[in-house]
Formats: sequence, C-alpha cells, structure tokens
Amino acid sequence: MKKLIACLLIFTACSQKEVASDIDFTTVFETSNGTETATYQQTISYYTNLAKAYPEISIDSIGKTDSGKPLHLVTFNPDKEFDFKTIKQNEKRILLINNGIHPGESDGIDATMMLYRDIAQGKIDIPKKTVIVTIPIYNIGGSLNRNSTSRTNQNGPKEYGFRGNARNYDLNRDFIKCDTKNARTFTKIFHLVKPDVFIDNHVSNGADYQYTLTHLFTQHNKLGSSLGEYLHQEMMPKLEQKLLAKSWDITPYVNVFNKVPEEGFTQFMDYPRYSTGYTTLWNTLGMMVETHMLKPYKQRVEGTYELMKSMIEIIEEDHLKIQWKQIHSTENLLDYADTYALDWKIDTTASTTLKFKGFEGKMVKSDITQAQRLKYDRTQPFTKEISYNNYFKPKTEVEIPRGYVIPKNWWQVIELLQLNKVEMHLIENDTMLTVENYKIDSYQTRQNPYEGHYQHYNTKVTSSINKVKFHKGDYIVYTHQNAFRYLLETLEPQAPDSFFNWNFFDTILQQKEGFSPYVWEDKAKEILSSNPKLQTEFNTKKSTEKDFSDNWFAQLDWLHKQSTYYEKAHLQYPVYRLK
Ligand SMILES: [Zn+2]
Repeated sequence: MKKLIACLLIFTACSQKEVASDIDFTTVFETSNGTETATYQQTISYYTNLAKAYPEISIDSIGKTDSGKPLHLVTFNPDKEFDFKTIKQNEKRILLINNGIHPGESDGIDATMMLYRDIAQGKIDIPKKTVIVTIPIYNIGGSLNRNSTSRTNQNGPKEYGFRGNARNYDLNRDFIKCDTKNARTFTKIFHLVKPDVFIDNHVSNGADYQYTLTHLFTQHNKLGSSLGEYLHQEMMPKLEQKLLAKSWDITPYVNVFNKVPEEGFTQFMDYPRYSTGYTTLWNTLGMMVETHMLKPYKQRVEGTYELMKSMIEIIEEDHLKIQWKQIHSTENLLDYADTYALDWKIDTTASTTLKFKGFEGKMVKSDITQAQRLKYDRTQPFTKEISYNNYFKPKTEVEIPRGYVIPKNWWQVIELLQLNKVEMHLIENDTMLTVENYKIDSYQTRQNPYEGHYQHYNTKVTSSINKVKFHKGDYIVYTHQNAFRYLLETLEPQAPDSFFNWNFFDTILQQKEGFSPYVWEDKAKEILSSNPKLQTEFNTKKSTEKDFSDNWFAQLDWLHKQSTYYEKAHLQYPVYRLK
C-alpha cells in the first residue's frame, strides 16, 4: 500500500511538472496584439498554471465576494515562503497590487499577469527584498459583466467588465463602510499581508494630454511625518525619473473636469473610502495608477507594466529606509501628537510647478447644444509650466482621546473594528465611567443616493463631560495601537468618512417619543412656574426670536426638550471618549 502511495506521489509530481513545461504562458493581451484583456476565468487559470509551473508562485482563495466567488491572492516569493508572518520576520518588504477594482479599467489585470511570468522566467531580475502579492481581479462580479460600451471614452480593449460590482457598488468607495463582501475580504487580506507598498491600477477619465501614465499617490501631508516626506521627496521623484529614463514620462493625476489642465489643478484628496486612503491608515505607501483613457490599450498596459517594474526596483533599493520610516512614523503618531487632522484644505502658501505636456484646448461652439464646448487639438502639443496644488493643511482637528468606549449594542461597528484587527478590551462588570460625550449639533445630508447611502457631511458636534453607566460586554478601545488612525477616522463623527457620516448611527437622529400638545401645555405651565430660570430663558427667546415667538409648536417643543421628558438618546452620539 505504502509503495502504491509513493508511486502515486511520484507520478503526480512528474505529471505536474510535464503539464507545467507544456503550458503556453502567452497572455490573451499578447496573442491579440494588445487589443484584448483576459476574462476572469482566463486570468485565474493563468495564475493557477503559473503556480503549478513555478514553486516561487502560490495562489490562494480567501473569503467571498458579492458575486459568490472567492477572492484570489497570488504571491511571488523566490524563497518559496508563503506564510506572511514568516515573510515579515525575514525582513522582506511586501508590495500588494490590486487589479480590476473597476474592471473596465483592465490595464493592470493584463500587465500584472505578464509581470509575474517575466519575473518567474528570469526576464526581469528576481527581487531579493520584495515579495509581490496581487489580487488578480478584485471586482469579480463586475468583471463577469462584460461588455464593449460602458467605458464611453476609453480606447480599448475590445471587451471589458463593468464598474459596479455584483450589487452595483463602486468598490473604490467601500473601504470604510464595507457594504460589500469584496471589501470585507479585502480587509482580511490587507491585515494578513500587511503591505509596505500598495498599487491600485486604474484608467483615467477627464482631460486630454500627451502622457500615457499618471500617478495618484496618497496625499503626502495626510500620510504625514517622515513617511509622507519620503513618499513626496524620494519615492515619487524616483519613480518619475526611472520612467522618464525608459521614455515613459509620467505626471501627477490630472484632476480637472471640463477645463484645460494648463489652468492648474489640485491633487486628488484620497479620503479613507478610497483604496489608498484606506491603506494610508496603516502607514502603507499607496498609489493609484491612472493610465490615459484615449491612449491605445497596448500602450497603456505596457506603461502599467513598466511602472510596476520601476516600483519594485525602488522597493529593492529603499527596503531598509521604508521599514525604518514606517516604524518611526507609527511611533511618532502615537507618542508625540496631541491632535489629529480629520479633514484637510489646500495650503495656498505652497505649490509645485509642473512642466506639463498637454495639447492646446479651446472652447468652441457646440453643433449639438450651441453652447461652448471644450475641444483639444492634438496637432498642437505644448510643454507649459503649470501650477499644481499638492500641499494640504488641516481643516478640522480633534484632540486625540486616550480611548473610546463603545456599547456592545452597536455590533455593526464593533464587527468592522474586529475585522480591522483593532485591539479591544471587554468591560467585565457594569461600571460608571467619566467620559466625554458628543451631541450631534448639526449635519447636512446628500440629496441623492451615493453608494447605497444618503451620506452626511459638515457634521458638527458639541461635547460635555459626564458620568455614564456602561455594561458588562461593552468595549474599551485605547487609541495607542496600530489602528490609531482608523479609529479616529471612523469614530470621530466630524471625519468625512466617519461611521456617523456613513449612516451607521442614523437611528439616533430620529426622535422616537413626542408629546400631545393639549396635555403637554398644562404640564409645561407647571414646569415654568416652578423654574424661574427656565421662565426667564423662555421669555428672552420669545422676545428675541421672531420665528420662535410666532410658532406655538416650536415653543412647546423647546420646553419639552428642556424637560426630563425629552429622550436622552436623541442626537446623543453613542461612542464615548476617554480623556
Ligand atoms: Zn478607476
């Protein structure tokens, strides 16, 4: 029996090797002469075969997506070690490449397939200090929804997937709210892999210009400390120079809509809902690649390939520096900062001058609408100095609390914190704690649906210190931990991508109990006569605010809100700050 098993094992090993050497690793992109992109099935079977042929490559499937299919993760490590804890202990830097978040923007899908093959086959120097990990196609549902038209302004490939996922979510807005199984699985992958550098491959919309490649690095002031400086002053210029040397000139993402770039433009602010904004919360050096939609598909994929190759070279050269800066940036944030910037505005005292290679554009009369329309003239290329606003400063800041107390009732929030590996401490007995609590003072709400939500913005709070009773099973979450930035960005209601703004706490915005005016009228009279201070306040309000004095219901409601009959939960933000 043992002999038979041994033979079987040998046979399996031999047959696998034969299969591997017989496999043709030419991609669909190459056989179509750069006009087609691989389907989901072709992409996964390509990587499966690569993993069979090359022991340096491993393919895993982890967690589900909304499509019902699992996400795949493909790792290239010349040491043939695929346990991420061990990889980190071996002092290796990890590059995570995400493809097909918008499957119509398929450039990265094809470029990464060729990159893995060429490293495995020795056409590119095998990186010694970098382990490469890729999600071959993140938006599987969108990728299966193939068509030839939904990228209205894009020049190829022939067919591609659709932007919305299986439930029509844009996954590049879902990293904080995690409405999709895709985002939940990404979160698991992210905390498993703990990448040092992250690339998310896209194709642009917007202006016309000469470049095929544009880079959208995470905003460097927001990333902060020495890591932000490294990104801005070293990594980005290095990438630009390396690509220029290969005649792949690159410029910052041209963030304009219906105006010409030479008027100047502002860096895109990647809030945590976006991929690189999310990875920044854990000090990962993130960038989106945005190839130019009007350039031929072949050129775009080849450019994406060269960009990723250059980024690997940079990680190889700077691996020690990246590690050192990441460790020190976390320490700096945790040990020295008193305040945290929740939102940002352009710093008008600083900007960068770009030598921008564009096309002359002018406004001409539209034959359709007779209004003025923008038209570029590709026969008129130019290089002009333009102003690029890529410095930001804090707009809204908050004092960093020692921690937060979260009642167990808010389990959806707790689940997301757990998914993000936040360290949490259970309260073991019912207990009174002195905490800072927020009342929601004001907020605005989007008038149109946005990514499955009517998101809030311009949220303002008032705060007070109170003794609050907490219960066994509630959680204390200290801010002095790796998830520090994630906690502030999600739990502070004023942060643009806070759980409050993403509607997780909307039930506190609605008053559940009210009063019958004819009953309350008599009770309110009793309260006023027994409380001279309230009576004075009421009289002043009536005499100074006309709307108030003209509105009998507003007066009764105001009195109700000053009384003990008014419910405590209304507008009371249920996450508390520990000073
Ligand atoms: Zn995109």
